[in-house]
Amino acid sequence: MERWSRQIILPELGIAGQQRLLDAKVLCIGSGALGSPATLYLAAAGVGHLVIVDPDVVESSNLQRQILHGESFRGRLKIESAASRLLDLNPTLRLETHAVRFTPENALSLSEGCDVIVDGSDNFPTRFLTNDTAFFRKIPLVHAAIQKFEGQMTVFAPHRGGPCYRCLLPELPAPGAVPSCAEAGVIGALPGIMGSMQAMETIKLITGIGEPAIGQMTCYDALLNRFRQIALAPDPDCALCGKSPRLFHVSNPQTNAPTHCTMSTIPAISVNELHELLTTSPGIRLIDVREPDEYAAAAISGSELVPLATIPEASQDWPKEDVINVTGGMDAWLAAGLPKKE
Ligand SMILES: [Zn+2]
Repeated sequence: MERWSRQIILPELGIAGQQRLLDAKVLCIGSGALGSPATLYLAAAGVGHLVIVDPDVVESSNLQRQILHGESFRGRLKIESAASRLLDLNPTLRLETHAVRFTPENALSLSEGCDVIVDGSDNFPTRFLTNDTAFFRKIPLVHAAIQKFEGQMTVFAPHRGGPCYRCLLPELPAPGAVPSCAEAGVIGALPGIMGSMQAMETIKLITGIGEPAIGQMTCYDALLNRFRQIALAPDPDCALCGKSPRLFHVSNPQTNAPTHCTMSTIPAISVNELHELLTTSPGIRLIDVREPDEYAAAAISGSELVPLATIPEASQDWPKEDVINVTGGMDAWLAAGLPKKE
């Protein structure tokens, strides 16, 4: 009672609303820039059961905006960092974490029994998948996305008369048509605002207070400090929620498309596997995509510096089918106590 007294005294919420929060189960896709503020505020508000899906490890470049994580968890799984922080915030929280990518194979089991899905993903195929999962489960999807200095947030709930994500975006944008977060850049406060709005909408949906943002998109322009509201209507021709649907399963061409932001479609190995590989396969070419100052501070012996921005040009004659990503990169290498170049 004391922990949640500041919100229980709100007549709109009260003890009944608090009980609804405690009884609720929310699925959060990602614990990154949007997922950080969203999960922090949901855990703090007393949402009883949180499910977090995130396969990534904490990297230095995350810390500028992913406020759930800190220096002490660099190189470790984000879900470990999330568990440490969220359970400190609310030890009675029932937290379920999965260090996997959200895929058509696991989407239905991970969302089982959930009241709301919060989409904190950073790529289009995953957004289509969260949309389709929420549609088939008949639960609301709290969507947000950011791009440079602009953010958008809405609630997709076709079962309550609103549109779905596919009503707005029927097809996947061509790969490369939209820059990834790593290419476009972002100031951390922007996902902080949009992710906090997602937490607020989730709390409203669970407790039933106020008007949920169904059929209404909030667009925030940070540079001009301007919020715009756009009314969104369902598309009767939508392949998912329209009058003559053509999609009947969470597994479909859009949700199975490769994701582009996290490089997770590229085969990955751990830093320990890389260490092993470097001793057993001397012909291997090890590319370090960080910036020159990071490379100068610490690097792996035999690695070649090709900063990320110069990859498209430098990689033209590389054999693309043989590329392997090293999960966690240099941070994970150092965290594992592996040797650096003298
Ligand atoms: Zn639709």
